Amino acid sequence: MFKTGSLTLILLHSAFAGAAVPSVKVLIAKSLKNIIVEGIDLKKTIHTQKKSQQYVGRKKISFKCGPFGSKAKNSLKNPLLVASLSSPTGLISWGDQKYKGELHLLTSPNQQSCDLVNNVSMETYLMTLLSKEMNGTWPIEALKAQAVAARTYAYERLNKVGSFDDDKLYHLESSEKDQVSGNYHDITKKTLNAAKETQGMILVGPSGKISPAFFHSKCGGKTLRPDQVWGGVEEGYRSVDCHFCQRTGMKDWNYQIKGNKLTQMVDQVLRRYYADEMEGDDLRLMPDSPHNSEIRLYAGDRLHIIKKSYLRNLAGRELLPSNNFVIETKKNEFHVQGQGYGHGVGLCQLGALELAKRGYNYQQILSFYFPKHRLRRAY
Ligand SMILES: [Zn+2]
Repeated sequence: MFKTGSLTLILLHSAFAGAAVPSVKVLIAKSLKNIIVEGIDLKKTIHTQKKSQQYVGRKKISFKCGPFGSKAKNSLKNPLLVASLSSPTGLISWGDQKYKGELHLLTSPNQQSCDLVNNVSMETYLMTLLSKEMNGTWPIEALKAQAVAARTYAYERLNKVGSFDDDKLYHLESSEKDQVSGNYHDITKKTLNAAKETQGMILVGPSGKISPAFFHSKCGGKTLRPDQVWGGVEEGYRSVDCHFCQRTGMKDWNYQIKGNKLTQMVDQVLRRYYADEMEGDDLRLMPDSPHNSEIRLYAGDRLHIIKKSYLRNLAGRELLPSNNFVIETKKNEFHVQGQGYGHGVGLCQLGALELAKRGYNYQQILSFYFPKHRLRRAY
């Protein structure tokens, strides 16, 4: 059970406290053929020509994107900063979206179109993200827990070697690959306050090292460690039992899967992740349980152990919405039973929602999902 008395989360002061709020470059759109931006007193810099132009009053600027360079250059696949735009108002429109900070136009990796990057203060980035990754109407303490987790994720990326360099064209993608952020219109009073009230706060592991803080929609009963899902060990992570997300979000799933389909999927997992393959098509599953993050099976007389997350990567989220599932053999048929939605590592968002409704504050929510981590002020 969750006890407030067992809190291990403490605020550690660091040498970084008081430092400036960092900027983060976020890839917001890819493969654009045309880009039209609008703003007041816009400053346009064309980096490839080393030219700048300052406009007065409201101005619409349109860019035709690509193809850039020759075919030989295409093979380099190095994106290049083509242009950047800023406004003294701090706001620039792109279509019906409005961005704070600067907009940067890059060549796409195929050199045929443009990618669009928003260079924005970390705190503004978080204010827009909370409406996308959670919901701007959720209780403030759940939003604050999410703000700390998302800030930690982004800050860890910035801290990777060289990421603070201006040369880095972008640090994060606004997609499920990293985390989904929004635009100026997504900022609500609550998301603004959630970022402000936790400004600069990040999670660090037991050794004090910045830890990539992961989060997901619904764990379905227990969270997972990064090594159970991706293979890489991150310090401080624990699998915790979470019963707080049970009543909300995606319902549990339960279906039969044909033997030849499962055999095909297992064979593909073995080839893709284990440089191995199935011998024959005689698949026999060993008893599974929700506590296993791996499936044990026999193909012929060989035992294979495969990660459930690898099977999910291959099967897709429609078939396996989470990594929290069990596959069993019942009367010569394979049955899949599962709970939750998302990879299952770190903060369970629907669990955080329920904890906040029950009156827990963001420190308590974070200490529940990250029991060995500490809070630190990064700036
Ligand atoms: Zn949960």
